[in-house]
Amino acid sequence: MGKRAYNFNAGPAALPLEVLERAQAEFVEFQGTGMSIMEMSHRGAVYESVHNEAQERLLGLLGNPSGYKTLFLQGGASTQFAMIPMNLLPQGRKAGYVMTGSWASKAAKEAKLIGDVYTAASTESDKYTRVPSQSELEIQGDTAYVHITSNETIEGTQFAEYPDTGGVPLIADLSSDIFCRPLEIEKFGMIYAGAQKNLGPSGVTVVVAREELLAAEAKNIPAVFRYNTHLSNNSLYNTPPSFSIYMVNQTLRWIEEQGGLQGIEEKNRAKAQLLYKEIDGSGGFYSGVAQESSRSIMNVTFRLGSEELDKAFAKESERQGFVGLKGHRSVGGLRASIYNAVPRENVEALADFMRDFVKRNG
Ligand SMILES: *Cc1c(COP(=O)(O)O)cnc(C)c1O
Repeated sequence: MGKRAYNFNAGPAALPLEVLERAQAEFVEFQGTGMSIMEMSHRGAVYESVHNEAQERLLGLLGNPSGYKTLFLQGGASTQFAMIPMNLLPQGRKAGYVMTGSWASKAAKEAKLIGDVYTAASTESDKYTRVPSQSELEIQGDTAYVHITSNETIEGTQFAEYPDTGGVPLIADLSSDIFCRPLEIEKFGMIYAGAQKNLGPSGVTVVVAREELLAAEAKNIPAVFRYNTHLSNNSLYNTPPSFSIYMVNQTLRWIEEQGGLQGIEEKNRAKAQLLYKEIDGSGGFYSGVAQESSRSIMNVTFRLGSEELDKAFAKESERQGFVGLKGHRSVGGLRASIYNAVPRENVEALADFMRDFVKRNG
């Protein structure tokens, strides 16, 4: 095998090498069935046991909370931006959206097409360089749910602590930070995440929610967009993305092997610290995009003194084998996405490169 790249892609992103190798070992023939898992019926016992195992691992990592169910859906987190209000925002009620950046804005934009949406808090005036504090949150009467984006992948901010919504169901987009640290699921009515950042390949979206939210009657929307359709069919209403779900199961197993969510968190914090240390210790050569208290441990965003230097950094890093460091076009600068599967050695190599770059250009 050739050398694995220093992959800092934002999504789809690095997968654990062990997961890829295990998948490779049973890619052509799955457990003595004479076929790949991609070739078998999703109604058969072999696939169903993988499907159910992935659900059990998901809930297991969350401490097997009572009253919560998990779904495997398609269409990415973006489809959840629409399905959430379609299912959970009835006429006569409102939804509060916490505006923290690009993904929160997209979620709110979709919800506005469906129902009555208001801004429960916003950090737009700070250019989304931080998440709001509890005291900034204003929840109106008749609010069906409050929506937050746990980690803003593009700006590089993350909630260190989740807001208290005082009994109003809290719904969170965890696409870019699910299972990067322990999660108190009981604080949430629903969480959801596209798999392609921290859980596996693209193609499947994971939803974990209180059963009563998923079971709600939603008669006037097509069956495939109703949560209760998927709940009552164990996410097998139509053909699921079976290979993606298989990969999610493998990735969850790998997370368990890393010491579960606590073990993963320790590793993630240490990795993030390596990069923030370079930023803060550079005497102003690098500046972090996010305010310190809102810094993400998944997406480290930073800038150099000028756009020319940003470009030079991006270009030179590419030549040295680093992939995906250019910031999102909407914010510019640089971004290192250091999801669960990014090995510490790769982050160390980037920290070394950053230090060396200062020496040559500072
Ligand atoms: C990537 C991302 C999305 C979009 O996910 P898709 O699966 O492409 O629809 C939504 N929210 C956040 C926070 C993301 O990082």
